[in-house]
Amino acid sequence: MTSRRVIVVGAGIGGLVAALELAAQGVEVLVLERAAQPGGKLRELTIGGAAMDAGPTVFTMRWVFEALFDAVGARLSDHLALQPVDVLARHAWSEHERLDLFADVSRSADAIGSFADGAARRGYLEFCERARRIYRTLEQPFLRDSRPSPLSLAGRVGLRGLPDLMRISPFATMWSELGRYFSDPRLRQLFGRYATYCGSSPFLAPATLMLVAHVEQDGVWMVDGGMHRIALALAALARERGATLRFNAPVDEILTRDGRVCGVRLADGEQIDAQAVVFNGDVAALGAGLLGPAPRSAAAPVVPANRSLSALTWNLLAKTQGFPLSRHSVFFSSDYIAEFSDISRHARLPTAPTVYVCAQDRGDDDAHEPRGAERLLMIVNAPATGDTRPFTPEELTRCEDETFRQMARCGLQVQRSPQHTRLTTPQDFERLFPATGGALYGQASHGWAASFSRPGARSRLPGLYLAGGSVHPGPGVPMAALSGRQAAASVIADRPSARTSSRRSTAPSLPVATPGGTSTR
Ligand SMILES: Cc1cc2nc3c(=O)[nH]c(=O)nc-3n(C[C@H](O)[C@H](O)[C@H](O)COP(=O)(O)OP(=O)(O)OC[C@H]3O[C@@H](n4cnc5c(N)ncnc54)[C@H](O)[C@@H]3O)c2cc1C
Repeated sequence: MTSRRVIVVGAGIGGLVAALELAAQGVEVLVLERAAQPGGKLRELTIGGAAMDAGPTVFTMRWVFEALFDAVGARLSDHLALQPVDVLARHAWSEHERLDLFADVSRSADAIGSFADGAARRGYLEFCERARRIYRTLEQPFLRDSRPSPLSLAGRVGLRGLPDLMRISPFATMWSELGRYFSDPRLRQLFGRYATYCGSSPFLAPATLMLVAHVEQDGVWMVDGGMHRIALALAALARERGATLRFNAPVDEILTRDGRVCGVRLADGEQIDAQAVVFNGDVAALGAGLLGPAPRSAAAPVVPANRSLSALTWNLLAKTQGFPLSRHSVFFSSDYIAEFSDISRHARLPTAPTVYVCAQDRGDDDAHEPRGAERLLMIVNAPATGDTRPFTPEELTRCEDETFRQMARCGLQVQRSPQHTRLTTPQDFERLFPATGGALYGQASHGWAASFSRPGARSRLPGLYLAGGSVHPGPGVPMAALSGRQAAASVIADRPSARTSSRRSTAPSLPVATPGGTSTR
């Protein structure tokens, strides 16, 4: 008898969400994860006995998780404690140039007015309105569609929505459009940085990525216990709903019979039958043949030139002084053009890096100054050449020294020690996420068409489904979760029993089309 089991390869956010949703609908689910714990990029490291986040730190679009937990008969607040932040981030260019952005738009506008001038204040308010409009235009037809094309997008917004679609300027670059709102180069740089949330360069990304600014204004939360808790909570709930999770279980091959997926083979040779497989690794691994010959052409190959950004990250347990770190702080490079030219054009580490710091023992007000050493994650953008050109120790040391010098120029002294510092390079990320070169966000969103070229939940190989940050609707924790929901919905809709069942009507659009598209901060 053929198996009815669904195998999920990978326990990143997309895989965990797909597994949870499938298990909640009574499907027999087996998750196979190469690592020893769930989370994928939502990693946790322990340094000097202190556990800390080593991946994502900014939690947005809470509604995605509320709708998910709702759909599986649970309440998000019973599983995760979330605290909203007032200060979205503290930005610095030098010791004397600092700017906080707030969740409250009018507070940010006042801060920008004092930092720059009245024109900048007005420009910011117009920019916020524009970002809001882009988000509203794209939320339903793009984020919640299982695989939109320019044509389907136009079809879904309808004739009345077409002017809105053109107003979001899909053909202009983010950098050029930002010039319409901000003449102060520092503000253009600050808002251009939102492109990097999708692993893209602000000089090449389309203006539509301005919507990231709106997503942040809609709410940023801190997760009690760290972001890694999200993965633990999803894994626990998936188990409660009946899924089986196996760790240290690398899948070497996706097997097919008569042109459709029939199971997987693990690295130790074990074969497990399945009716369908959801692949949560980066789709680049399929094209590279890392999952065997059958799924090679299941999704369009990812050309290395189209890879998104990688990063150098440092996790530290260290004392700091001289700068009032907020939970999220950014220390800007003095030459943004040179930074991205180093990364995108020359494929080298930036000589003038912009540094993001997550101070994990702090809240967003200045009252939470830690007394001793504190848990820090520092991130600098880097090219995704972990497989083709690993950086030499000298290159890494040069970039690290410049990173700490850049923070010191803004007043921040970090008392680092080698035994309490853990560096992760593009080469390390390539090892963790094979065939990516260390790219952390799938393919870059460069040019208007890039967002349409990500594969959807259904691959070209019958029985193989895709979920994760390299799949539509794109990278980021909530987006990967949406892709997991879309994969689960597609599996359910395509199951032979679903096609004949009278209850089928709920399946295709069930998870992603549930209400909840409004923020519930
Ligand atoms: C440093 C950093 C900072 C970030 N900051 C943010 C942020 O602040 N906010 C935000 O929203 N997003 C952020 N992101 C992006 C976000 O983390 C990702 O988009 C998201 O977590 C990706 O989830 P995923 O579903 O693609 O799974 P992944 O995290 O990519 O996990 C895939 C899993 O599949 C497993 N796997 C792959 N192949 C196999 C195989 N053959 N056999 C078994 N297992 C396999 C892997 O081991 C891995 O565990 C950040 C990412 C990084 C790295």
